[in-house]
Amino acid sequence: MTTKIGIVNVRDFDNIIDAIINAIKLVEKDLPFNFKESKYILLKPNLLSTNRDACTQPIFVEGVVAYLKNIGVSIENVRIGDSPGQLKKNASSVAKKIGLFGICEREGIKFVNFESEIPEKEIIEDGLIMKEFFVSKPVKDCDIIINLPKLKTHVEATMTGAIKNYWGIIPGGLKAKYHLLGKNAQNFGMVLADNFSWVVKNKPNRITIYDLHTIMQGPRGPSAGEMVKWNLILVGTDELALDLVALEIGKFNGLKNVPHLNNAFKRGLGIGNFDEIEILGLSLEDAKKQVPKFKVPGELMTNIVSYVTGHVVYKIFKKIPVLKQKLCKKCGECAQICPAEAINFKEQQYPIFLRKKCISCLCCMEMCPHHAIDAKMRGIGGLFDFF
Ligand code: SF4
Ligand code: SF4
Repeated sequence: MTTKIGIVNVRDFDNIIDAIINAIKLVEKDLPFNFKESKYILLKPNLLSTNRDACTQPIFVEGVVAYLKNIGVSIENVRIGDSPGQLKKNASSVAKKIGLFGICEREGIKFVNFESEIPEKEIIEDGLIMKEFFVSKPVKDCDIIINLPKLKTHVEATMTGAIKNYWGIIPGGLKAKYHLLGKNAQNFGMVLADNFSWVVKNKPNRITIYDLHTIMQGPRGPSAGEMVKWNLILVGTDELALDLVALEIGKFNGLKNVPHLNNAFKRGLGIGNFDEIEILGLSLEDAKKQVPKFKVPGELMTNIVSYVTGHVVYKIFKKIPVLKQKLCKKCGECAQICPAEAINFKEQQYPIFLRKKCISCLCCMEMCPHHAIDAKMRGIGGLFDFF
């Protein structure tokens, strides 16, 4: 079995939309699905924070939308969404800040916060550490995912890109809880591969358009690293192969050095052998010549950070909902939607949040019709919670 990966050089940023369209055309005839037959196409960029550099560039969304319109896809069937999992910052607030929301409004595309619908509990059949989890409803419902990652270093996972971008399918602060399952770099790699395994087995219609135009490197990734222009776009359907090619372009051995890629390869979740990857467009050698070596955080650092975050930081940063009594109308809707049955509600009384049952998805905050729920960090008390 082979997979095809297109590499396109962005010679001039003014023409990047054409470059994105050309990149998709390189692989379109081999896609195992038809965009025009889909009722729900979900674009999943990486919207990490309001730091524009940490996000997939909005122009990638514009490029994909231009391609879809060119081939006659009804824009009514297209949604864009993500879940950054930060305290008080949902995907739409990030999208507004970086200019993506304006593109959605102009194009008439609906933006979805992944927390705005009740997530669904899913079994991960071959999960090694994470055997079940909650998946955002838009991801569960869509029939095509257009994955729009950006290549960045990651202080726990070494790098983030095509596979790691799917971590965002877990809603809100719930990601922090699942982070706690991976208490060192290797285990966190297994958890990321567990998450990806669900994607591979449940969402067969996927394409990745990979932002390698401006990448982030160095020990401060994925949110505040050094930005470097690579002027490239990758496109393909096999995320493992895409990540390995992206890293190969940066002269870095992904299979050897990135736990979640290595784990995904061993589990057969994608193609990790370069003999089975056919490059279209710019050659791999030419791509390698035009970019400098990718600088990643050292193994010691990723291990220390994973250990500290897995044992301490995520417990403190775990998000819990808090009630703003002045705004609450005692309607009880939050208790009805809570997927963990973590809200006690009695008629004419304020809801009570059951901290130990709460999975921090923050759907109640997103869906309260009266904006009466806020989120706060669990704080030092979280260290005494048992996971
Ligand atoms: S949904 Fe909002 S307003 Fe209604 S009970 Fe819950 S917190 Fe109060
Ligand atoms: S109370 Fe329920 S809906 Fe709210 S964050 Fe916790 S688990 Fe999610």
